[in-house]
This record gives sequence, C-alpha cells and structure tokens, in this order.
Amino acid sequence: MIYIFGSGLAGLSAAISLHKSGYKVTIISKKINGGSSYWAKGGIAAAVGNDDSPELHKIDTLEVGDGLCDSKTVDYVTREIRYVVSTVEKWGFKFDDDLRLEGGHSKRRILHKTDDTGREITNFLLNLAKKKGINLIEDKLLALKVKDGKVAGFITEKGGSFDAEKVVLATGGYGYLFKFTSNPSTNIGDGIAIAFKAGALVSDTEFVQFHPTVTTFDGQAYLLTETLRGEGAILVNERNERFVFKYDSRGELAPRDVLSRAIYDQYKKGHTVYIDLSPIEDFDRKFPILSNYVKRYGKRLQVFPGVHYTIGGIRVNTRGESNIKGLYAIGEVTDTGLHGANRLASNSLAEDLVYGVNLVRYIDNWEGLSIDDVKEVIEVRLRNSSNRLSLEEIREYNWNYLGIVRNGEGLDKLVKIYESNDTFNDNASLVSLLSAKGALLRTESRGAHYREDYPNKSWEDGKRIYFMVSR
Ligand code: FAD
Repeated sequence: MIYIFGSGLAGLSAAISLHKSGYKVTIISKKINGGSSYWAKGGIAAAVGNDDSPELHKIDTLEVGDGLCDSKTVDYVTREIRYVVSTVEKWGFKFDDDLRLEGGHSKRRILHKTDDTGREITNFLLNLAKKKGINLIEDKLLALKVKDGKVAGFITEKGGSFDAEKVVLATGGYGYLFKFTSNPSTNIGDGIAIAFKAGALVSDTEFVQFHPTVTTFDGQAYLLTETLRGEGAILVNERNERFVFKYDSRGELAPRDVLSRAIYDQYKKGHTVYIDLSPIEDFDRKFPILSNYVKRYGKRLQVFPGVHYTIGGIRVNTRGESNIKGLYAIGEVTDTGLHGANRLASNSLAEDLVYGVNLVRYIDNWEGLSIDDVKEVIEVRLRNSSNRLSLEEIREYNWNYLGIVRNGEGLDKLVKIYESNDTFNDNASLVSLLSAKGALLRTESRGAHYREDYPNKSWEDGKRIYFMVSR
C-alpha cells in the first residue's frame, strides 16, 4: 500500500495515476477539500500554444527565479507539463479553449477553466478518485517512523500507528503561518516539520512569495488573480494615480514581488491601493465567479499584498524522492528548485501535476535524493519546552518580522523567539524558525526575499541554504 498525505492537486493526481497503473493507494488528508488547490484561480502554465515552446517557458521561469532555479528541474517540468496536461485531459478534464497571459510570461500559456481553475480540476480529480474506489480518509499525520534511514511507517491523530514502506507527502505549504494570506488554514507546514524531524533535508525556506492583489469579500480573504492584470486591469491609488510604472517599467505585469513591494510602499506612504477592473473587455464571461462579487462590490476594489506561496520545503529530486528511503514529497510541501528565489505565476499547479502524475514512473526503482553536491548543511536543534505560542501569535510575529520587507534586527529577534519555543512538538514554530533562520542568514535581497539592510543581490547564483535536524 502506498500512503499519500494530502488531497490537493499533487496528492490526488498522484493517487489516480498510481491507481490506474494497478497500485494500491490510500489518501489521508487533514481536510479532504482543504488545501490551496481549491483556491487557485488563475491556472496552469504549459507551453501548448503554437507560438510557444518549453524552452521559452524555461527562460521565463529562470528569469523570475532570479538565479536560484535548478536548471534540470525547470527543464523537466516545462517539458513534462505538456504531456501531463494531455494525460489529465485523457482522464476527462476539459480546459477552456483560450490561453491566458500572466505576469512574467512572455507568451499566453495559462490553461484554465473559467476563473476557478483550482476548484474545477481538484473537484474533478476528487470525484474521479471516489469513482475509482480509492481509499480516502480524513485524518491528520502526526509523525513519520524512520528506521536506518528508511521509512518504516507513520502515526496519525485518529488512526494511531501504521507500518509502511512508501509514504508520499503532499501536505502543501505554510502560507497560513502569516497574518495576511490567501492560503486556507490547513496550510501550516505540517509535512515540512514532520519530515524535517524525521531527518529530511529542507531548503529555501526564506523564500515566501507575496501576492500583490488580495482583497476581502464578506470578511474573507479573496485572491484577485494575476490574469486580471494580464487581461487589462490596472492598479491605482486613491488619487487615481497609476503608480506602478514608478517602480517598474513592466507596470501591472511586473513580477509579484515587485508589485507587492510597490503596493506595500504606497500604503506606507499613506495611500490606499485599488485594482480597477473596468478596462477588461467581456469581463462577465471571462471571470464569471468574480463577476458575482463585482455586482455587489463594484469594479474598483481595494487590494493589499498577502502571503501566497511558500517556495522552500522538503528537498527532493525530479523524481519526488527525498533523502529518506521510501519518503516521497510532491507539490508545495517540497523544494524541487523549480521556482528558485521566486515562483513564476501558475507554475505551482504545473509542478503539482508533473510530480503527481509522473510519480508512478519512479515508485518501484528508488534512487533517492543525492546530497553529494550540498556543501553546507545547517543543523537545527529541536527544543522540547513548555513555551508555546498560539497560532495567532505566530501569524502576527511572522507578518511583522518575516514579511514583505525584512531586516536583520527583526529576524534576529524572531529566530530567538522560536528558538526558545517548543519546536519539538509545535510544527508551526519549527517551520517558522526554519523560515526566519534562512531569512536571517541570507544577507542579500533576491527574488521574493527582500532585506532593507541588504537591498542588493550579492550572493553567488545557485547558493542555497539547507537545514537538517541535529541528532
Ligand atoms: P494543497 O492543495 O495545499 O493541499 C494540501 C493538502 O494537505 C490538503 O488536502 C490538506 O488537508 C492536507 N494536509 C495538510 N496537513 C496535513 C496533515 N498533517 N495530515 C494530513 N493531511 C494534511 N498556483 C498556480 O499554479 N496557479 C494559480 O492560479 C494559483 N492560484 C492560487 C490562488 C490561491 C488563492 C492560492 C492560495 C494559491 C494559488 N496557487 C496557484 C498556488 C497553488 O494553488 C498551490 O501551490 C497548490 O495548489 C498546492 O497544491 P498541493 O497539492 O501541493 O497542496
């Protein structure tokens, strides 16, 4: 039996693909319809247009990744996504016919289904999994059992202790560990913390991506997708100034980190920022879900940046294998090196699908993550302590000191807070510690990581920070 934790796009696509090839799989998820996949609005990046190619997709990904992408991974994902998309279409999913444009892409290459792609495709796969009789259990992973460097089983909240030789983590990222976020509350980094405690290599945790345009509808955070700006929406302040060109010549199509900082700066200067949707032609047809809200809230909506995607995680190779035998990880829980220091829009669902659908190719011939070229690993000691911060306190701290603009003083303070906290039992504190420590150590600004005390890129390209638990 192969146990898959998480029922987002990565977990579901892996389960269906494995099941179709005759493997027995069980999905265990904290919340069956939890996770970010259901909230994804824009779509999936794939070079399927006549004027496009995986090479161009690769160039765009490397450009946004700001010197830290793993070229082999980028090559793999940008090529494979075309095959994987056709696989999912063969399973019965139908994308809309047109391709959309998003920031950082040189071509129209966003496959989508209305303006609710994530919900559409995840529901489709969930229904398919149910139809195929795949075992779906709602339960929470608490720990992995590892013996002699191999997975031996796992422990869940309701089910207790199980033996297993193959475990796939697809538990998503940790965006909900920040006060302002587009992420759902399931995403607090459980899988990263659990794998780390079991001995997995973790990397790139300082890179947290902010989305520039989050709004609120009925008191709930709601992401205003990149494609809105691709289709012509503009950003203005209360004086109706289209301020973005002051920050970047690409205007509204500049990468997310640039726009997030621009909007953050506007607020710091006392302005209020809005997205104006009125330039979009044929809005109701293109964005039917958002159009329902717009009827109530209007086409000029206040926006603010929020944490959207966490780039770092369990280090895996292009086969989804970690350094612990039998432990696979796929989707946002991982750090594959695809995104580098900043993720190109709509590349994460592409990564989910490539690693999920293709896992079946590698499941019976383990190679394992090679860590020979990892020169330096920082060991982190876990602390078993009665000091526990509440989740709300952690979210507040992270937003204040690990947010859009960081500095050494704030990060040092944050690291000390988490080091004196219960990182042994509290996953949220442990993942926050790894993220804050990475951000403190990276004394430069690159991609999504911005330090006001080190505003320039100064480290050599490709140099990443790796963490492992101290034994
Ligand atoms: P998730 O979909 O986050 O699923 C994680 C799963 O793990 C959940 O089922 C959860 O219940 C389960 N889980 C968590 N902890 C445990 C535990 N301890 N035990 C058991 N189960 C657990 N990306 C794009 O490429 N294009 C987009 O247009 C896009 N839009 C987005 C819009 C929003 C609002 C958000 C939040 C993200 C968006 N992203 C987009 C990012 C993308 O949605 C995610 O990166 C992707 O969905 C992650 O998929 P996943 O399967 O790895 O994890």
